[in-house]
Amino acid sequence: MPSVAPHECQCEHCQKTADKRRELHAQMNWFMSQLSKAQRRWYAGIESNRIKRNGARKIARVTGLQETTIRRGGKEVENYAAGQLEKPHLRRPGRRTIKQRYPDIEVKLMELLADDIAGDPMSNKQWTRRSSRQLSKELQEQGYRINYHTICRLLKRMGFSMRVNIKKRASTTHSPSRDAQFEHIAAERKEFLAAGLPIISVDTKKKELIGNFKVNGRSWCKEPIEVSDYSYASMAECIAVPYGIYDLAANRGYMYVGILVDTPEFAVTAIHKWWADIGSIIYPGKNELLILADGGGSKRGALTCLEKTGTNTIE
Ligand SMILES: [Zn+2]
Repeated sequence: MPSVAPHECQCEHCQKTADKRRELHAQMNWFMSQLSKAQRRWYAGIESNRIKRNGARKIARVTGLQETTIRRGGKEVENYAAGQLEKPHLRRPGRRTIKQRYPDIEVKLMELLADDIAGDPMSNKQWTRRSSRQLSKELQEQGYRINYHTICRLLKRMGFSMRVNIKKRASTTHSPSRDAQFEHIAAERKEFLAAGLPIISVDTKKKELIGNFKVNGRSWCKEPIEVSDYSYASMAECIAVPYGIYDLAANRGYMYVGILVDTPEFAVTAIHKWWADIGSIIYPGKNELLILADGGGSKRGALTCLEKTGTNTIE
């Protein structure tokens, strides 16, 4: 903050000891001594604009500034008020955005998260098991100065959604075995990808009762359709169990719908069908398949195993 010695007023009032204006002028000059050069000019301009006649000259005597300087300041303030002040005068070097500072930040984040991403491939929603704070720390170690709020924003923009990790809340203690499990899966994924072996991520979607039930949402119709008030599974004609299979390497999702119950046999059937319809064509001659199931578990099994339904159940 610039600070110069306050100017001593030279006006005729301040020469008389008893004048009230003396105090005011002293205050003005003290205030101006705290301002930058431009601010002094603008403030003097404001004061001079308030005076009907010879404002600049009077204020020059009070403040010690040049009349031309005061007129210029007065004009600038007027223009500013009219939204016309030349931009270079006011523009401050704005903060650069995170992407300007680190153009590769999203790539970096994806790299950090690569082995860590869980998600719902069908809806393209993704989440990560790492916290933003943890990511912030890891990035800082690599020379990126970025706080976790910004990471949250970036992740959101990159399509990740926040997800409360209930398991993590239930057991606040860090589980080394869980970490080891994730690392194990990550290693397997890398190995399979490198070898061109298929990896699929599977999970069961929300079950739908097929029958005459009330569903949320409205449709246009003339007569209200009579529906059962309660959705009981026993009243349903059948239950549709959508089963999602996501091919990681090919980045494609498939959906199989079963109409009985959600059993391991159904999961195996769905995977088997996927392999027969699609997998065997995309990955000809491959005899290993990595299956990532919900809950972070993974199954590594020979394809022949899958053919015997039930021998390789899904977690
Ligand atoms: Zn004075």
